Amino acid sequence: MFETLSDRLTSVFSSLRGKGRLSEEDIAATAREIRLALLEADVALPVVREFISQVKERARGEEVSKALNPAQQVIKIVNEELVEILGGQTREIRFAKNPPTVIMLAGLQGAGKTTLAGKLAKWLADQRNTPLLVAADLQRPNAVTQLQVVGERASVPVFAPEPGNGVGDPVEVARQSVEHARRGNHNVVIIDTAGRLGVDAEMMQQAADIRDAVRPDEILFVVDAMIGQDAVNTAQAFLDGVGYDAVALTKLDGDARGGAALSIRHITGRPIMFASTGEKLADFDLFHPDRMASRILD
Ligand code: GDP
Repeated sequence: MFETLSDRLTSVFSSLRGKGRLSEEDIAATAREIRLALLEADVALPVVREFISQVKERARGEEVSKALNPAQQVIKIVNEELVEILGGQTREIRFAKNPPTVIMLAGLQGAGKTTLAGKLAKWLADQRNTPLLVAADLQRPNAVTQLQVVGERASVPVFAPEPGNGVGDPVEVARQSVEHARRGNHNVVIIDTAGRLGVDAEMMQQAADIRDAVRPDEILFVVDAMIGQDAVNTAQAFLDGVGYDAVALTKLDGDARGGAALSIRHITGRPIMFASTGEKLADFDLFHPDRMASRILD
């Protein structure tokens, strides 16, 4: 994860080692190198600009602590700015006052929604919740079966359309699932919705209709981190088309660069709530900006 960015930043910092005090040129040169590292990591330009301007200002402002040498000082500033750009605080789920808490997943096909639905269900069940998975992706022939497999693996029940149970109408399935959860004492409902390969008006409308029918407590935009800046464009399209409260980043295990992770918060104004780091159910956790920053600078 983020190896390319880590390596680049490490070499920037190593060029500062042994320096006494940072001159204006040192700061400018360091800022240039960090800028290149971020651009190479596919971080969106407005984010790079903001980041660099903060680092420069703070390095010049000489928040010089006597305990730290200039290299350590720059590392500290970069670390803090990384935490900031990644969202600062960890964003927890906001549970509804009156259960069930309804969580809706939206995103492109292949983003990892169904896999994430299972991981989230397992993660919630491990914390003494009683989740219900809902197959509202009726677009792909295999989607319902895939969710059932995932549910079985997570030992979490799946609400899926059956004949006479609103077949073919994902909005109806979503609506019924909330009733079903209420009756069956499920305190969280996780609704997996349909995705397309590209952003598509009909898909957006369907997601918006499900949203309007069940009024989710949390809408999560699920996005593949490996697509870099394309994630930012898709994120913007979903923000306009459906809207969402937070982001779940998938496939971070295969993301050497980190562009999506570092850009998405700043561009969308929505926090990253979850990180998915592999194909196994356990490869999943809340997204912790501070831990992620430390990993990048490790
Ligand atoms: P959906 O179309 O959005 O529901 O996407 P899927 O859940 O079907 O996932 C698409 C593919 O990505 C599957 O092959 C998953 O196994 C894989 N996948 C999902 N999440 C991750 C992850 O965090 N890491 C890796 N390496 N693969 C993942």
